[in-house]
Amino acid sequence: MASRRLAFAVLVAVSMSTAVARQGERETVNVSSLTTAPFQGSDSRVGSSSLTSAGSAIQISAGSALAGNSVALAAFNRAADQWEQFLADPVQITISADLASLGPGILGQASSVQLSTGFNAIRNQMVLDNSTGPFASLTAALPTAATYGVTLPSTGGWTTEPTMYATAANLAAMGFDLTGLLPGGSHASITFSSDFGFDFDRTDGIDPGLFDFEGVALHEIGHALGFISEMDYVDSVQGGGGGPAIAWTTPWDLFRFSANGSNPSNLSQFGSMPRNLDPSQATVNDSISSFLGSNPEVPTSTGVDTGSGDQASHWLNQAALGYYPGAMLPSVAPGQRIDIGLNDLIVLDTIGWDVNYAALPEPGTWAAIAFMGGLGLWRWTSRRCRAATAA
Ligand SMILES: [Zn+2]
Repeated sequence: MASRRLAFAVLVAVSMSTAVARQGERETVNVSSLTTAPFQGSDSRVGSSSLTSAGSAIQISAGSALAGNSVALAAFNRAADQWEQFLADPVQITISADLASLGPGILGQASSVQLSTGFNAIRNQMVLDNSTGPFASLTAALPTAATYGVTLPSTGGWTTEPTMYATAANLAAMGFDLTGLLPGGSHASITFSSDFGFDFDRTDGIDPGLFDFEGVALHEIGHALGFISEMDYVDSVQGGGGGPAIAWTTPWDLFRFSANGSNPSNLSQFGSMPRNLDPSQATVNDSISSFLGSNPEVPTSTGVDTGSGDQASHWLNQAALGYYPGAMLPSVAPGQRIDIGLNDLIVLDTIGWDVNYAALPEPGTWAAIAFMGGLGLWRWTSRRCRAATAA
């Protein structure tokens, strides 16, 4: 029971040149007996052919500052509505949210309730959840505790344990019964910085010099849904942050491979090759096959202290990628709009959500979204971004 470690995922403003305080490590509550809830027929994982549920509900529990800012609250609710249209699991997710001063460089942060249990308990539920989806073959090939291998830093005396942890929202989507396990009834809490100029209305674009509030909300909700990585913990320990050199894993980490070394190109290799949690190595999220035109290998960030300079719970930064990877990019420029992308949805699908891809915008929109990312602006700010996040 109860190894507790602190976890915040932060979205960094690339225009800020001041140092960002490191936000610590992971917090999990170990649960020895997570049980799956009996779903009522409408969910694909229990074998029904109909996926006609009302879908997921994301409920916002607003703190006093957010509740007192009706424009911000409305924008946050629109972000929740956006996720809801993509997620079909019959679950209700409650997120506490507020506005507060977060210090220089940090636009928002998400702190999710994270629960840990045996590797196979979560792994098997991921397989079951995907049994009828587009990634059924991929997830069926996931290693078990007995066959799981992981590359860890060569220094520091790292070992691994067959323990997996996930966000409460992610576990709920998989079908775990979390009754009594959510402090205050919330799956996560999200804080938006009150130190930044936000544009709360994106119907006319994001004003120059302002940040996309609805987009930041999309991003922070994404962390609560499951965008977390054990690589951030490894990176923190390697960077001197303290903590035992024992690596667990998260659902998303089961798709994280070396970009250059053990990089699978078929399902057999996907099952047998080691995952990668060494922040000094470039990594990719690998879903093996293209789906709806996706790139099956999307580079990921590898850590603030000893990795790529951004938290590993994100895609690699847009300047390095040369394209817009999705809402879970590590940093955002003023004037840039953040939208949910296909890469984001594929990750959520593979880690236990049921995704409604039909809600995606038409393919032509992607080019427009990438253009709106303002690559020129991004380039000159990217160095500062790394300086800002390396503190
Ligand atoms: Zn983030």
